[in-house]
Amino acid sequence: MQLKLLGTAPGMPIIDRTHAALLWSFEEQGILIDAGPGTSIRIVQEKLSKDFISKIIITHFHPDHSVGIFMLLQMWLIQERTNKLTIYIPEGSKERFWNVLNYFYIFEEVLPFPIEIKQICNLQIHNYYITVFKNTHLDSYKKLFEKKSYINEGSSWSVIINTEQKRVLYSSDIGNIDDIKDEIIRSDLIIVDGMHIDLDELFITVSQIDRYKKIILNHLSVDLLANNDKLMDKVDKYELMNVIVAYDGWYVDIS
Ligand SMILES: [Zn+2]
Ligand SMILES: [Zn+2]
Repeated sequence: MQLKLLGTAPGMPIIDRTHAALLWSFEEQGILIDAGPGTSIRIVQEKLSKDFISKIIITHFHPDHSVGIFMLLQMWLIQERTNKLTIYIPEGSKERFWNVLNYFYIFEEVLPFPIEIKQICNLQIHNYYITVFKNTHLDSYKKLFEKKSYINEGSSWSVIINTEQKRVLYSSDIGNIDDIKDEIIRSDLIIVDGMHIDLDELFITVSQIDRYKKIILNHLSVDLLANNDKLMDKVDKYELMNVIVAYDGWYVDIS
């Protein structure tokens, strides 16, 4: 059982990175968490079969986490996928999501495979669990929503993957460290959004719990990615022993 970061770029396009996508692979199926632009290209690079991914969970509707879904569906249409696909959406109704897909010429009647659209929720697969919890990443839009009648709900989610051996936090985009503090304590491995939080706060939190806790810094800003020395100086300052800057293709066995 493997977790692989297919895409690690932040909201800005970066030449050697694609956008948010985390693949949890079992022997017989894959669960994709987020589908940013470029996810279909990464899936082709990984040589994954057209029927391998059974579920896609979208943590929030920012384009760098979601718009890759259109190309995935187009790819699987052309490849004549047959297995059912379930898409878990972070907000809104399934009818509204179908309307968006239809706008891009993706129609239920034309796809060679069934799609089920559901609200994001906790899942059990075999003896493993995915649990989701809301974060404050999109709260800054609330003032706009009070003034204007947009139909958005401002819902953004973080994800916990629980196997028999490991508890893994995938923060996706968050508002601040308080969104995930409790889960940082509980989880064995944390794949954390390095752009929307104060890294000093993250490192202080982890150093107080366990200096050997594994941290995968994901979704780092272009500035931080270009200043790796500065970032590593910070890691050294807090004497953290297990910090990795995420890259496309990073993977870990969590069996
Ligand atoms: Zn993002
Ligand atoms: Zn976002």
